[in-house]
Amino acid sequence: MRIKVKLWDLIFPPYCVACGNPGEWWCGDCRGKIHLVRGDICSKCLTVAEHECAGILPFETVTSFGYYHDPNLRALITKLKFNGVTILKSDLKSFLCKQKVPDISPGAVFVPMPLAEKRLKERGFNQAEFVAEVLIEAFDLQNEINLDLLERMENKDPQSSLTHDYGVRAGHIKGVFRAKKASPEHVVLIDDVVTTGATAGEVVRVLMEAGAKRVDLITLAIGA
Ligand SMILES: [Zn+2]
Ligand SMILES: [Zn+2]
Repeated sequence: MRIKVKLWDLIFPPYCVACGNPGEWWCGDCRGKIHLVRGDICSKCLTVAEHECAGILPFETVTSFGYYHDPNLRALITKLKFNGVTILKSDLKSFLCKQKVPDISPGAVFVPMPLAEKRLKERGFNQAEFVAEVLIEAFDLQNEINLDLLERMENKDPQSSLTHDYGVRAGHIKGVFRAKKASPEHVVLIDDVVTTGATAGEVVRVLMEAGAKRVDLITLAIGA
């Protein structure tokens, strides 16, 4: 495996997805510049600073490592979404290893945000699944990953994902997810990025209906 990777590097030398410098796929310099989330994320409204909370999001806790507006992190996430690059694994792991270990019980089941079948066929992989795997490796967690619990139907209105309005998104996303079987009691939903929380919130609703008692959310990035 190692030899294969080295050979691959010789044929296609790595260039950083964020700064374009040769050497690594996501270089140490760019990883070191990430604007980290400092402080707790409010699980009801996804705000980090002190605030009067009027949030209604259904998560138990929310963990994210950086901000989506940060170009260094955004470059990585865009690459993950559209280029299916497992070559980014070791660099993403190096970044996550330096972050605080998420406080998650080993009995909780990791559920990556599913893609609709058509999308999955187009892309050939699900980036949330990749994030779940890297989280488990980086933090040496024992949690099981369940890929067989949720199903995602084609979104009725794909344009709705372009709006950052919670209500609009929540309305459009309703009925898109389905639980194929009973849910474990404690689920950790995994995604690459959370923006309004409407999509992830709808997944929580479906999981709760299927028997979940507690759902935590972990994403690489937070924000629009
Ligand atoms: Zn770089
Ligand atoms: Zn809040």
